[in-house]
Amino acid sequence: MSHTAELIAVGTELLLGNIANTNAQTISQSLSALGINVFWHTVVGDNPQRLKEALDIARGRADILITTGGLGPTYDDLTKQTICEAFGKQLVLHPDILEEIRSFYESALHVPMPENNTQQAELPVGCTIFDNPVGTAPGCAFESDGIHVLMLPGPPHEMETMLRRHVEPYLRKLSHEVIISRDIMTFGMGESSVDQLLHEKMASMTNPTLATYAKPCEVRLRATAKAATEEEALKMLHPVWDMVCETLGDVVYSGDGGDLAEHCRGLLTLKNLTLATAESCTGGLVAERITAMPGASLVYRGGIVSYWTSVKANVLHIPQEILDTYGPVSPECARAMAEGVRDITGADLGVSVTGSAGPDPDERGVPVGIVYIGLATPEGTFCRSLDMGRRRRDRIQGLAANHAFDVVRRYLQGLPIEQI
Ligand code: ATP
Ligand code: MG
Repeated sequence: MSHTAELIAVGTELLLGNIANTNAQTISQSLSALGINVFWHTVVGDNPQRLKEALDIARGRADILITTGGLGPTYDDLTKQTICEAFGKQLVLHPDILEEIRSFYESALHVPMPENNTQQAELPVGCTIFDNPVGTAPGCAFESDGIHVLMLPGPPHEMETMLRRHVEPYLRKLSHEVIISRDIMTFGMGESSVDQLLHEKMASMTNPTLATYAKPCEVRLRATAKAATEEEALKMLHPVWDMVCETLGDVVYSGDGGDLAEHCRGLLTLKNLTLATAESCTGGLVAERITAMPGASLVYRGGIVSYWTSVKANVLHIPQEILDTYGPVSPECARAMAEGVRDITGADLGVSVTGSAGPDPDERGVPVGIVYIGLATPEGTFCRSLDMGRRRRDRIQGLAANHAFDVVRRYLQGLPIEQI
């Protein structure tokens, strides 16, 4: 039998927009992997009447209700009391839990336990207790007329610890299916072209399924399979990967969800090569995306943000003649930037970005969206010329950074670099 869950986040801060409901995201991902359908996310303030109403609605349409928040010791923490009233359960004090909370205060926090924490040791009669090794409020679960009610604390690290240790094993016993998803990453083809090529196949698939979702600067596909075991689901995903690669060709670069920067890092590590960057219109975005990854120093030597023409000339040693004749936004300059930074750093590969990110054309009248990516390698220097049109400045920068990584990954994979 398949289960349907509703997540009820309790907290006025969520409704006020002070914090995002990240607990719902974490729990949903976990439930989807367990094969449990999540059809509703509800958010309700710290108000017993409205929480009661939310519970009444939820129990009419789902058989697993998971609440987060409101298990603390303060006057606005009313989740447990309200749920017990709604389901006709008594709260009973657990002296052993009370002692654990008291000793958590004394040994970890070095203060006596405030008396109102006593209510955290009160739990619905006959429930399964989820202990909380990183906080004080235990969570719990009970079943009432075929409906499973689970209560988890609000702080995300407490909630997540409890989710992995207790909730997933508890729910696994209820569910007989797993759902596995894999993100297939593409770059270089617009969403509508991807959709056109795959639409018929996607529409006819039921299990596994395939869906596209466009990120600002690339298109991802999500393949999802439902099966009795993880191995079986993974096996069902292989032919989907093959079909997508066959249909879209070399714009597909990864089947594990890693982005272009991660993919490049992997390829550079594998081939024991280093990279350096020279950036103008991306202002260091390419460098930032590489250095954001742990282990970047193995493959990345450094970079120069050569925004002014004088920096291109004096630091990257771009001949004045190139700057005067072709201008800083030109294929010639992109090539010279890539060669310059490769020389200065001694890296195996130098990649460069120069372009007009807008909103106005540059001082030489180069239209917005014109971008050149240079790549200097031991086999020679390449340049990709792009016209991205009048997009938003940050979109042009993000897309240009992705093209820089794409040029590197295509070089490393022996694919055509300049034209895609
Ligand atoms: P405490 O013992 O800290 O009072 P609690 O179980 O009563 O825990 P809340 O008081 O509702 O939980 O929330 C505590 C904190 O946890 C909030 O201030 C917020 O930072 C975070 N939090 C609560 N709910 C969520 C949520 N759904 N998503 C992300 N963070 C949350
Ligand atoms: Mg609280």
